[in-house]
This record gives sequence, structure tokens and C-alpha cells, in this order.
Amino acid sequence: MLPQLLAQLFKKPFTNKHPRKYIPFSSTTFFKDVRSGKATMAPPIKTPERFRGKIVYEKEKCIGCKLCLKVCPSEAILFKDDEKKIKVYLARCTFCAQCNDVCPVSCLHMSEEFLLADTEKYSPSLIVE
Ligand code: SF4
Ligand code: SF4
Repeated sequence: MLPQLLAQLFKKPFTNKHPRKYIPFSSTTFFKDVRSGKATMAPPIKTPERFRGKIVYEKEKCIGCKLCLKVCPSEAILFKDDEKKIKVYLARCTFCAQCNDVCPVSCLHMSEEFLLADTEKYSPSLIVE
């Protein structure tokens, strides 16, 4: 077993890094074509009705009442005193949607986006504000 373990140290990993920024260039070009309508892509998984993916925040509608902070079980929401607006740290979010339900002006929603993996906990892609 030891020789096999040592040999493994010099081999390339069999898996690919997952976060979006590691997608090979050829795939990135393909996704750009999809966005511009030149190519089409079937979603890998159809999300079920009322799926709870990445939070969407309609900042301009927010009245700064802080109710979402009070119900969030994982303390994923920060209140920005200077702006009277919120900031959501997705790395802490458990996607329970309680903040959506309590918001009096319905400015928080759960989207269908679920490809959120990143190597940085505080990466801009994991912060909603
Ligand atoms: S979905 Fe749940 S865990 Fe995530 S920010 Fe809202 S209340 Fe907090
Ligand atoms: S509950 Fe809604 S309106 Fe109140 S602070 Fe949170 S996002 Fe803004």
C-alpha cells in the first residue's frame, strides 16, 4: 500500500475543481454563446417548484426594518447602518427562506440558482447586497 500512496503523490488529481472560475476556457466560450443566444443548453437538473436557491435581494424596495435579521437562524444577514440596507452571506445561509416570508415589502426571494460552490467563503459571488 505504501508504494501506491507514494506514487499517488506525483499523479494529477482525477477530479476537476468545481467552482465556476475553474471551468475550462472552451466551456466559458460556450456559456457566453448561450447567454448571447447563439447556443442553447438544457439545464442539468430541472429544479422543483418552490425550489430554494440563491437569495435575490431587491435593494431599492428594502425599508430597513431588520425583521429578516431577527428571524434568520444562522445569522447570515448583516445590517449596513450607513445605508439602512442588508447584506446576506450565503456561506452561512441555510436556505430556509424565513427571511423571505417575514419581509413586509417582499424584497427577498429564493431563486433557482444552485451552482454556488466557491473556494472563498467571502467571495463576492457568495454575498448578496
Ligand atoms: S434563507 Fe434562512 S438562513 Fe438564509 S438568510 Fe434567509 S433566514 Fe437566514
Ligand atoms: S425584512 Fe425586508 S425590508 Fe426589512 S430589512 Fe429585511 S429585506 Fe429589508
